[in-house]
Amino acid sequence: MGIECPQCGAVQEVSAKENSFPCSFCGASLYFLIDQAVQHFWFRPTLKKHLVPGIIGKWLDEKELRNPFSVLKSEKFFFPMWFLYLKDGGLLKELGAPTPFLELKDLPTPRGDMQAYRPEDLDGETVIPPGIRLDSILDRRFGEQTAARLIKARLCHIPVYHVVYSLGEQTFSAIVDAVQGEVIAGDSPKSPSKSKDKFYGYIMFGAMALFFFQGLLIPGFLNALFLGGISAGVLALFLSDWLSKRGRVQ
Ligand SMILES: [Zn+2]
Repeated sequence: MGIECPQCGAVQEVSAKENSFPCSFCGASLYFLIDQAVQHFWFRPTLKKHLVPGIIGKWLDEKELRNPFSVLKSEKFFFPMWFLYLKDGGLLKELGAPTPFLELKDLPTPRGDMQAYRPEDLDGETVIPPGIRLDSILDRRFGEQTAARLIKARLCHIPVYHVVYSLGEQTFSAIVDAVQGEVIAGDSPKSPSKSKDKFYGYIMFGAMALFFFQGLLIPGFLNALFLGGISAGVLALFLSDWLSKRGRVQ
């Protein structure tokens, strides 16, 4: 069966066994689908495994989760994505395999260079095969209009770490982008910062009401000012103590 190289147009003879090999004419790395070939790429990971706990720590810190945590496992794998280049200049990314981490779709396009895929570069790595077919994605996305909207598609393998960590008594998991060095998906204990904001709002409302009544009830402007100052000071002490306690998970 002959399939055209998307880079140079040379027709490739494809055996049913192999689905990934370079164009015999221009050398482009190709991935063969049933009736077409797409260019085949990967991104080189830059985040070393020993730096993963630091990334998790920073992410938890941003959520104000400051309890000690420990990374139990971090495993690198290459996740397949279909990159769809549109005629209007847009780029769509679609998951290339089923995954419980749907957030992978929002993975930023890695900043590094796309490397032409050569199997030997990924020797010994875990590479998830593209289990979601490109034609089913194109059908869903564009239907009859595929040719009108799409310039080309590429298969890209993106390196990520699957991290399992414990915090307190519980175990959580996260996905870290191994090019950008950022957590792109993950679960964690509820962040205290949201409930803090709400709590703070109630307290401020209560305080304003208190000051208002003090102003009404206490005779003499200076007395009211003095007592108001004391109330505000006590409130500030109480608040800072209480909020710092809330920053920790029990
Ligand atoms: Zn070619």
